[in-house]
Formats: sequence, structure tokens, C-alpha cells
Amino acid sequence: MDNRFENRRVIITGAGSGIGQATSLRLVAEGAAVVACDVHQEGLDRTAERARTTGPGSLSTHVVDVSDESSVTECVGAATEELGGIDILVNAAGILRSAHTHELSLKEWNRIIGVNLTGTFLMIRDAIPALKVSGRGVIVNFSSTSATFAHPYMAAYAASKGGIWSLTHTVAAEYAKDGIRAVSVAPGSISSGMTAAPGLPSDADLSHYARVQPVIEALPSDADLSIPGMAGPEAVAGVIAMLASDDGAFITGTEIRIDGGAHM
Ligand code: NAP
Repeated sequence: MDNRFENRRVIITGAGSGIGQATSLRLVAEGAAVVACDVHQEGLDRTAERARTTGPGSLSTHVVDVSDESSVTECVGAATEELGGIDILVNAAGILRSAHTHELSLKEWNRIIGVNLTGTFLMIRDAIPALKVSGRGVIVNFSSTSATFAHPYMAAYAASKGGIWSLTHTVAAEYAKDGIRAVSVAPGSISSGMTAAPGLPSDADLSHYARVQPVIEALPSDADLSIPGMAGPEAVAGVIAMLASDDGAFITGTEIRIDGGAHM
């Protein structure tokens, strides 16, 4: 494995499960110093356990609720102090809740927007001062295939991911002169905690989802949550490693879809 992240300091949210966990391990394997953040300590403990045999980088953990302003400020401040700065921010934390749109409560709408979109904003806002000091900062955000391809029963989720798409472009333009790059990934059909339990309504018309299936075989996954027909979270982690490293040095203000061609 290359050492592309030697001396690079990284915060990753959603790092207790799925793609955030796989990305944490991938960057540690390439030499990064990672502060892995998630809303529950249990998932972070599993990530830390796996990181112990991953090296040569290092990983510590921090509980954060990305939808809570003071929790984010405390987390980013603590991580910046521990690492001595931040070079890379990966915003993988997210939640998926499904419902018929006419039955979606305002409380649920606000919760999904609050975690996915506002959470991404809060992390970016608080990390930007340290990323500016870095001079070669990178922000990787999580959009979704649902942002631009219709996904029924996911109105709030899709809207939050469309918002992240737009936010990424704005940040990329606004902070380019500070040496900060901002990119989005748009995964689809990736086995994770989220896709193991998408919670579609019991009377959902599944014919739509039958049309958006990967057209290529995924590599075998070493993830705990392996789902037939889907790729493992490592498929996204490898792309994030490219985007966040100097291999992605000329990429900003755009997104990469990682879905096995499901949404061509
Ligand atoms: P996952 O396994 O559920 O991982 C998401 C992690 O974020 C979980 O550990 C989750 O904790 C955590 N989280 C939830 N709310 C949080 C909060 N308020 N503060 C901090 N952490 C919080 O799902 P994943 O698929 O790896 O998701 C990673 C990202 O990929 C998400 O942004 C998701 O929307 C995006 N994505 C995934 C797919 C896919 O096919 N898997 C497709 C498109 C986009 P809990 O488990 O306790 O909720």
C-alpha cells in the first residue's frame, strides 16, 4: 500500500460504520493520522480495534453529533488540537429514513436535513480555519445517487444530498485561493449499516429500484456488512483516498458517482 497520507491529519465523521469506517482504515493504511468521529462510541470502538492491526498511520476516536452545533465545535477543536491541525475533512456521517412523502412528518424532515446537510455545513464551517492554515486542505462530502436520480420515498434524504452537492461547489469556489479543494462522492448500492435497513414503506413499489442495479460485479468485500449484489464500502474508500491525496490535486468542485453503473 502507498504512503500517500504520511504527515496528513484527517477528521472523518460517520467513522463507526460502513463507508466512514472503511475510509478511516484505508487512510490509516496509507499513513494518515485520523480522528474518527461518530455519534456512538460502540461503532468507533470497532473501528479502533480494526485500526490497531492496520498501520502505519494512527487512529483515535471522538464522539460527535454532527447535527449539534456545540458538539461539532467541541469535536473539531479537540481534533485540531490533538492532531496539530487538519489537512483533510471527510463528512461521511448520515442517516437514511424512508416514507411516503405525504406521510413524512416535519420532525423527521428536519432530523434528516439536520444530520446530513446541516451536519456537513457545521463540520465544514468549523474546520475551514485549520484547513486554510494547512494550505492544501481537502473536503470530501457525501452526496448520493438519490440527489440527481429519482429515488421514491426518500424526499428528505434526496433533498439533503442535493444540498450537499450544491454546498460542495460553493465551498470549492470560495476557498480555492486558500488551497482548499472540495469534492463530493455519490455512492449507490454500497453495503453498509444504512443500506442493510433502508426502511422502505411496506407497500413500496420496488420496480423503480429494480431498474437501478449495478451492471458490473463488485470485488469481494472484507466488510462486516456484506450484502449480495452490492459493493463493499472499500469501493468508495479507495476513491476517497485518491481524491484526498495528491493524486486528486487537480480535482475540485465536482463529484464522482460510485455505483457500479447503476445510474448511467
Ligand atoms: P452507515 O453504515 O449507516 O454509516 C453512517 C454513520 O454515520 C453511522 O455510524 C451513523 O450512526 C453515523 N451517524 C448518524 N447520525 C450521526 C450524527 N448525528 N453524528 C455523527 N454520526 C452520525 O452508512 P454508510 O452507507 O456508510 O453512509 C456513509 C455516507 O454515505 C452517508 O452520508 C450516506 O448518506 C452516504 N451514502 C451511502 C450510500 C450507500 O449505498 N451505502 C449511497 C449514497 C450515499 P448510526 O448507525 O447510529 O446512525
